[in-house]
Amino acid sequence: MTQFTDLGLAKPLLQALTAEGYTTPTPIQAQAIPGVLSGRDLLGIAQTGTGKTAAFALPILHLLSANPRPAPRRGCRALVLSPTRELAIQIADSFRTYGKHLGLRVATVFGGVKHGAQIKALSTGLDILVATPGRLIDHLQEKNAQLRDTEILVLDEADQMLDLGFLPPIRKIVSHMNAKRQNLFFSATMPADIAKLAGDLLHDPLKVSVAPQSTTAERVAQQILFVEAGRKRALLNELFADANFSRVLVFTRTKRGADRVARSLEQAGVEAAAIHGDKSQSQRQRALAAFKAGDVRALVATDIAARGIDVDAVTHVVQFDLPEVPEAYVHRIGRTARAGASGSAVAFCADDERDLLRAIQKVTRQTIPSTDRRNDQALGAATAAAPSLPAESRGERPARGQRHQPGRKPARPPHQKSHAPHRDGAPGASAKKHRGGKGGRNNQGKRTDSKPQSGNGERRYVAATTPWSPVK
Ligand code: AMP
Repeated sequence: MTQFTDLGLAKPLLQALTAEGYTTPTPIQAQAIPGVLSGRDLLGIAQTGTGKTAAFALPILHLLSANPRPAPRRGCRALVLSPTRELAIQIADSFRTYGKHLGLRVATVFGGVKHGAQIKALSTGLDILVATPGRLIDHLQEKNAQLRDTEILVLDEADQMLDLGFLPPIRKIVSHMNAKRQNLFFSATMPADIAKLAGDLLHDPLKVSVAPQSTTAERVAQQILFVEAGRKRALLNELFADANFSRVLVFTRTKRGADRVARSLEQAGVEAAAIHGDKSQSQRQRALAAFKAGDVRALVATDIAARGIDVDAVTHVVQFDLPEVPEAYVHRIGRTARAGASGSAVAFCADDERDLLRAIQKVTRQTIPSTDRRNDQALGAATAAAPSLPAESRGERPARGQRHQPGRKPARPPHQKSHAPHRDGAPGASAKKHRGGKGGRNNQGKRTDSKPQSGNGERRYVAATTPWSPVK
């Protein structure tokens, strides 16, 4: 098996890696590093969690230190573009960690904070600049920054850049750059616009793909729970009754939804924090720090805020709402199963989210195991007993005309619905087993089927040896 020592990296980098406890490169690192060291452009298809940051940071640090040159004033030798502030901070931290024996200058530039410190950092010149596109463009326009001398450009999470509308800013940034540069391009998926951008930017790139396009991380045990929109809160509380749900990322579709789900969890005695684009940078960092430190069990996030967040040992990912963009499902579940670990992901699906589920299964080319929790008496009782919250927090989706296309068949009633097969169950049996109503329950309304319970007839997820029990 390839070791870091086989890749031709400079000694100070190997020292830093040893200090970090890394001995074996991840597949993307083993495949990408030699090519990048040789000066080639790179097209990396990889999700977060694959070790892609080091796959570009290590060879960049090597190349910059092997060809020492003064950092250009108001400029940088290597520019990394990131879709979010959090990811920018993380990437810069990785450069500092791996490059700690090299004495290179690393700084970040992103919105939501004052310009002054960034202008100062830029003015003397940087070896590595990690930036979000919007603020970098501000600095370019105000002539605080210039990119003429930049030798290496990295585009990280390009598909997320697309989702955030960053493609025009990226092209603008590139227009400020010298064409003679090395380009490294990373994306988890390859929608047409991203493939076009890659085609325009990259010259004869080395292509490295560590997960087939849009297929779900195989190490993540997945489960869909069908539930009435208004009972999602009760179902979420039920999940948290399992102490194994100890570090859980909960995804909502909207910022308000994130706040409300966090409040609802707090109400149920579960420490929770919310993170989304309306929070200030310091609030976002505080929430993330509390989650990383284990002070809160649940971090409730929107897709954009959570993108690229690297938190070790996330035990579970819960999708309170299914995402509008099917690829986001893949990104969300990738938040657990980091760096070779396996993980568990649970997604709630209300009747009006069936179209979204179909789109997810199509994109990920899989049938996700499901359990039907509709018409569940305990959830009904818990919902009735819970203090009421405004509509959105109960999981209902705001009316969005575009979702239900005219002429489309309405969802079939529950008793006609077919279900994805359970991992270890025949499709027919599972459909029967998980049909809504009283079927599959004993006379106390307890589940009598085998998943997701522990086998003692207990309804909750406690002690379950289910596909989504956490992996240590
Ligand atoms: P990334 O995909 O770059 O966000 O990396 C995911 C996680 O894997 C981060 O926590 C890294 O610190 C960790 N990591 C990266 N490379 C290695 C490696 N070769 N061995 C062990 N952990 C790694």
